[in-house]
Amino acid sequence: MASPFRQGLLHFPILNPTVSPYHFPKQLHAPPPDPPLRARIYKPLAPQLSRKLDRQQHEARVEHWKWKWKRNGLKIERGTKLLKDLSTWGIGGPCDYFVQVFNRTQLVSAVRCGKSSKLSKFFLAGKLCDVIVSFKGCRFCQENEIPFIIIGNGSNCLFDDSGFRGCVILNRIEFLERIEPGIYRVGSGFGFNRLGLQCSNEGFTGLEFAGGIPGTVGGAVYMNAGANGQETADVVDSVNILTTEYKLQRYRRNELNFGYRYSACQDMNDLAAIVEATFRLQSSGSARTRQLEYLERRKLSQPIREKSAGSVFRNPPDDGVSAAKLIEEAGLKGLRVGGAMVSKIHANFFINAGGSTSQDMLDLIDLVKGQVRRKFDIELQEEISYIQPCNF
Ligand SMILES: Cc1cc2nc3c(=O)[nH]c(=O)nc-3n(C[C@H](O)[C@H](O)[C@H](O)COP(=O)(O)OP(=O)(O)OC[C@H]3O[C@@H](n4cnc5c(N)ncnc54)[C@H](O)[C@@H]3O)c2cc1C
Repeated sequence: MASPFRQGLLHFPILNPTVSPYHFPKQLHAPPPDPPLRARIYKPLAPQLSRKLDRQQHEARVEHWKWKWKRNGLKIERGTKLLKDLSTWGIGGPCDYFVQVFNRTQLVSAVRCGKSSKLSKFFLAGKLCDVIVSFKGCRFCQENEIPFIIIGNGSNCLFDDSGFRGCVILNRIEFLERIEPGIYRVGSGFGFNRLGLQCSNEGFTGLEFAGGIPGTVGGAVYMNAGANGQETADVVDSVNILTTEYKLQRYRRNELNFGYRYSACQDMNDLAAIVEATFRLQSSGSARTRQLEYLERRKLSQPIREKSAGSVFRNPPDDGVSAAKLIEEAGLKGLRVGGAMVSKIHANFFINAGGSTSQDMLDLIDLVKGQVRRKFDIELQEEISYIQPCNF
């Protein structure tokens, strides 16, 4: 039986409560066909939570866990780490457990599962904004029945003010190996910006766009990050992942079903973490010049000095118009809810203009979606991930 302790890694969409709760906006590059929506509505969470361990049992397990971790050089922080310090938005309360991993052994130790489990995606009526939110990629440390999430630079995540009732694993696996000219094997915690700069400087093309993207290689593969007509998928050769069954698996690019801001990793039920990726690039004398142009453009068109998570919404699939353009034309630049504001420089960047709460940001997202829907009859779909605190 699946463990009751499911973590709350959520992807939008947040739905307009006025439309059918079972209506979901169309996906741009549809992931592999999902089962009919009704079948995916998960049974209520509450009965499952009744299986939770009592406090004493839980404490005993955590003590054992801490001992095991110590052996592998892992330091666990309990209840002190604020998620706002792990996110470029600067929003988020404390997580119950926090640990950084610097190599594969530590990663395995942090996520090690006692026994295999089939994890499933499910939907749950969320409390925030009266919305329905989807749970995706549920992963947790089964041995201790503690939910976990793995993050890179938190540059695509909205954490909740009440934090996360589980363990946040910060990925610091940062090696880079040159296999052959143009072929790089890189740890998933390696900075994506740094990789982009390095490859272009060494005269290889394909990752110019990565300059200025403040995420990690793991986050870029997971999200299939892209810009300026290039995307991560174009140059990925293979990706190694750690499964929840504690196995390392290698996926070739064509097995990852990449799409616009989508990789199959987002739908792998047994994904614990992306461990490393191999990139194959072509040589080019003009890569660095092109990259400098992109960086210059970024500086002029994005609020790079503000606290943001990049583009909040994906560009709509068939309309040939960007989400930023729609928001701007709806007259929403500068719109503010509490400390959250639509950037005046780039309408698809929402910034924490000072003291924004997660609810401010969610309300602003909802407001903008509603206005764009009313004005253009287009349903915007979020690109960012919202991490629900999850009760246990
Ligand atoms: C100023 C700014 C500019 C940006 N510009 C762009 C842009 O041009 N193009 C673009 O695509 N994005 C852009 N972004 C968004 C963001 O930087 C990218 O989506 C990036 O790839 C996220 O990487 P991360 O390491 O920060 O991921 P995180 O935010 O830490 O995580 C994002 C998701 O990936 C998962 N994840 C992260 N690492 C792993 C791993 N090792 N294994 C499994 N899952 C993992 C997390 O669980 C989460 O669901 C921008 C953001 C900012 C703040």
